[in-house]
Amino acid sequence: MARILGLHCRECGEIYDISPVHVCELCFGPLEIQYNYDEIGQTFSRQTILDGPLTMWRYAQLLPLNGEPCVGRQVGYTPLVKADNLASKLGVKEVYIKNDAVSHPTLSFKDRVVAVALSKAREFGFEVVGCASTGNLANSVAAHAAEGNFQAYIFIPHDLEQGKVVGTLVYGATVLSVKGNYDEVNRLCSEVAGKYGWGLANVNLRPFYSDGSKTFGYEIAEQLGWKAPQHIVCPSAGGSLLTKIYKGLTEFQKLGLIDSLPTRMYAAQATGCSPITTMVKERAEIMRPVRPNTIAKSIAIGNPADGYYAAETCRKSGGWAEDVTDDEVVDGIGLLAQTEGIFTETAGGVTVSVTKKLIEQGVIPRDESIVICITGNGLKTQEAILGKIGATIPIQPSLSSLEDALLSHRIGVVPRVANREPVSV
Ligand SMILES: *Cc1c(COP(=O)(O)O)cnc(C)c1O
Ligand SMILES: [Zn+2]
Repeated sequence: MARILGLHCRECGEIYDISPVHVCELCFGPLEIQYNYDEIGQTFSRQTILDGPLTMWRYAQLLPLNGEPCVGRQVGYTPLVKADNLASKLGVKEVYIKNDAVSHPTLSFKDRVVAVALSKAREFGFEVVGCASTGNLANSVAAHAAEGNFQAYIFIPHDLEQGKVVGTLVYGATVLSVKGNYDEVNRLCSEVAGKYGWGLANVNLRPFYSDGSKTFGYEIAEQLGWKAPQHIVCPSAGGSLLTKIYKGLTEFQKLGLIDSLPTRMYAAQATGCSPITTMVKERAEIMRPVRPNTIAKSIAIGNPADGYYAAETCRKSGGWAEDVTDDEVVDGIGLLAQTEGIFTETAGGVTVSVTKKLIEQGVIPRDESIVICITGNGLKTQEAILGKIGATIPIQPSLSSLEDALLSHRIGVVPRVANREPVSV
């Protein structure tokens, strides 16, 4: 029997052969890879994983490639950091940071999805690849396209951060800066994929792309000692990562790699673009698209393709969702940096602040294990915090200038007066 059975429709269950398609012809539902877990279970175990490379490809049996990856062979197996300083600041017992801010090669979790999507693009015979992106996907598709000798066409909204734009152009990709928001970029890309027959990572290659996200969940469970945490807080844009982390944990349970699945999933969004968290909080049956307005640009998708499934996953796992203001996003970036020495981008600021809010609301209990998903690097979104995190102190290259500066900023000056007994007269 084959390890992969085909693509199946999440809505009506129709089965399709493996090909670069992403929506059901019958009902327009999204297509997903269908694996044969009985077959995979015969040869896949904790030991075969431990014998594999220290990359996401240690889970290759649960990924939709026929052969070896042609790009991104080093992606994955990022650190899971026990964050004791942050935990004590939040007043909780056990917090971990799954840190894809240091993902190789482009410093966001999008390296995982692109490694799968472009390797599959090669198997399908595409020579031109691309994507619609809020920034990180652009960086990663451009980098992996260079590695794999693909031609790349990258579509982004015109108002992205400089770090994301420069970090795409440098790889030699053709970058189309679209006068519109992400949802308009995405609509254009659907037309492009149909007309030119290019392999677009998050359009016609989407079922393959999104399975790369499962490895984020596999790694959390493995790095916790083959155990799923009680709570996972995850930033959501299109809603794919959150959905697939949970799917990955479900697969691990099905294959006996973890004993139980107590995990509750929580979606984190910015209030200025919160269709998923709003759907959860209002217990709504449908998701209402919005017009994004937030500094958290990487997760500013007003009409998320997998938004409904992300909200469903929060609910059915017993989790919840929350959103935070742009000021709280900046606070969250600072809090993580100053407690754990990890510099995350705006999406990470969202996730840290949402975690704090859920703890303060009593939604996440203080004595259970919490994993915070950090998905991107702060060096790419510097304009979001510039001027809000303190400033440098200019001095002359002399000791006297240094001492003047320290005095005038009250740095290193012992507050002697405070310790004195009151003076009696
Ligand atoms: C794309 C992205 C996300 C969200 O991913 P979805 O799968 O679209 O929900 C989260 N964080 C960062 C930094 C991203 O770039
Ligand atoms: Zn269908």
